[in-house]
Amino acid sequence: MRQTKIAIIGAGAVGSITAYALILKDIPAEILLVDINEQRCKGEVLDLSDALGFSYCSKITKGTLKDTKDAEIIIICAGVPQKPDQSRAELVHTNKKIVTSIIKDLKPIPENQIILMVTNPVDAMTYFVLKESGLPENQVFGSGTFLDTERIKGLIAEKLKVQHRSIQMSVLGEHGDSQVPIWSTAQIDGMPILDFQAMEHDDLEYFAQKTKQKAYDIIKYKGATFFGIAACICRLCEAIVFDQEKIFPVSAFVKDFDVCLSLPAIIGHGGIKDLTEIVLSEQEKEKLFASAKKIRGTIEQAQ
Ligand code: NAD
Repeated sequence: MRQTKIAIIGAGAVGSITAYALILKDIPAEILLVDINEQRCKGEVLDLSDALGFSYCSKITKGTLKDTKDAEIIIICAGVPQKPDQSRAELVHTNKKIVTSIIKDLKPIPENQIILMVTNPVDAMTYFVLKESGLPENQVFGSGTFLDTERIKGLIAEKLKVQHRSIQMSVLGEHGDSQVPIWSTAQIDGMPILDFQAMEHDDLEYFAQKTKQKAYDIIKYKGATFFGIAACICRLCEAIVFDQEKIFPVSAFVKDFDVCLSLPAIIGHGGIKDLTEIVLSEQEKEKLFASAKKIRGTIEQAQ
């Protein structure tokens, strides 16, 4: 079987669980972990290697940034995570320094490489990495609101007693407090969600708030979030490796706003194949515009 190579920079909670998810998802890949904490990285690699016997992943190794040269995908989850009650945007100065120094050390970056950003605030980080790397816009994108989208779908599924996977809707904009759930086109197996009798008007705001709040709650209870994001990253890698041309809300460069923010994107070989045209209500457009402005503010704060 053709094996690709996926490098994960930052082998902390998110990086190591992502490696585990890739192993269990049977993606035919060799996984490389890189971290400045060499001892932790060594331990994660040894521990994860115990799961290889149940997977099409051929091997997992610890390495340096130089070893990423032949990787198809580089996932960056190095950086500091949020503390309880801290917003993602508050991490911007520290994490900008970390990710831009990583990109400088990765140079020259092979022209076909895809960089998938996870470090928060992910929209600003994706923007900085895009600018610093010099790679084409379709090859640098962030996990964005994919996780928020899965979170809101989970709430709807629970309320309407339908399968999570049967829900088609997106949360767009910032992976943060200004995110925008897109209700106007949301569907369950082709039927408009807003037409479901059990879906009450107050639910929309309640679900939006609960979705935003979920990361804060998880961090308050257990210190970090990693399972959901690992599943999302792994799903994006699967779409790239198998050239699935599936649509996901990911953080991509939007020239009009000069920011990276989440829009529905077709993902396959080479990264983003296209950003899909979307029809939004006037209110959703206004909120998306406000979200773009907020991200621009976060970017400018760190420049
Ligand atoms: P963590 O502290 O467990 O791991 C971070 C790792 O990065 C550490 O092992 C650290 O040694 C490493 N690191 C720091 N500087 C480095 C460098 N220059 N080179 C290589 N490695 C370096 O944190 P975590 O919980 O894994 O979170 C990592 C990042 O992911 C945070 O910024 C967090 O906010 C973010 N995150 C994003 C999402 C999302 O939806 N985008 C979800 C969860 C977490």
